[in-house]
Amino acid sequence: MISNRIIDINIPSEPIGSIPRPQYLLDAIRDYYDGKLNKDGLTEVYYQSVRDTIHDFIGTGSKVITDGEQWKPNFITYPIFGSNQVDPDQTGFTIPFQDGHVRRLPVLSGKNLPFKYKLYASEYIKKAKAMCSTHAIKQPVISVSAMSLIYPANPLEKYSRDQFIEDMLNEVEKDIRGCLEAGADTVQIDATEARLSLKLDPSGELLKKFINLNNRLLNRFSVTDLLRIGIHSCPGGDRCYHSADVDYCRLLLPSLLKLRLSRFYLEFAAEKNKVAILQCIKENLKPGDIIFFGVINVIDPRVESPEEVRDLVLEIAKYIPINQIGTCDDCGFSPFGDDIKSRDIVFQKIKNRIAGTKMAEDILKQLLSKSDDEEDLDINNNNSSSIF
Ligand SMILES: [Zn+2]
Repeated sequence: MISNRIIDINIPSEPIGSIPRPQYLLDAIRDYYDGKLNKDGLTEVYYQSVRDTIHDFIGTGSKVITDGEQWKPNFITYPIFGSNQVDPDQTGFTIPFQDGHVRRLPVLSGKNLPFKYKLYASEYIKKAKAMCSTHAIKQPVISVSAMSLIYPANPLEKYSRDQFIEDMLNEVEKDIRGCLEAGADTVQIDATEARLSLKLDPSGELLKKFINLNNRLLNRFSVTDLLRIGIHSCPGGDRCYHSADVDYCRLLLPSLLKLRLSRFYLEFAAEKNKVAILQCIKENLKPGDIIFFGVINVIDPRVESPEEVRDLVLEIAKYIPINQIGTCDDCGFSPFGDDIKSRDIVFQKIKNRIAGTKMAEDILKQLLSKSDDEEDLDINNNNSSSIF
């Protein structure tokens, strides 16, 4: 009966990860590099920043939180930051953004091999969990495809690309397993390079290589593990985008949704042609998938109202079965660690995402409860595409 089913409606809502660091942490980092603050002093300030971030996160009403990625220097190179295996001064892979600024990755130098991570993300989740036992905490990690970009264009003499890939797969696997074992609610693989790859190579060959690498990684995990692993795709959530002009639907979404995963965190709010994207997702959706749609534009400083979020979720529900819809932010709010967005604005955006998602959930419940049995709306049926 419908009355039984409506109780089950629950639209999950999760952040992507990063929150801008508070000014006092940015000041402490500067003081550390200026020699005015020692390592212990800086560590204490980091702890304070994570504590404040978790406190503010909980204040938004979010059931799932992160540590705001306060410890990460950025979302890509955290495992190799300060490693003696990379040469940060050598120009490596470059991510060009729309406004002309670039982000550069370090290059594997060929020294101190084989390739190993200097730090695993489980360090972050352990610290966060020690501070918060009341809420689910998710942990973002960098994708194997992004990490593959640190291998130099000219192959290293004594360390082939294939050797590097094998070692790197082991390290990314260890990174994810450590987070799962440390109690991360979900481990989210950040794969911003997927959309970028189509800008660099419109033929799709580079994307295919990236997808194959991710499949090699995911094949190492059990079905149970995979239920707690998701992937995030976006056109770059820095001060502007790197690949927003790349067609989301042509190759990217169909390829991503074929991955052996069921949790997809997709940038959506900033997209112009939402109907085409919803149709594309509908066509490529697998049973059991949950698509977390970005309903908050992380680059626009304007705070979306809960009503806007509600309406966007209701629009999504015209195409996607309700039990396969989740919401998220389009991206992290400070993926490169040097962004100075207002934390107040960021947390208000998150609060409105939670409130708007709940409003949509309530309306969908009402709509279903008003429907008579003849319509037999089945929210657990993957073929049900619309309740309107
Ligand atoms: Zn992103």
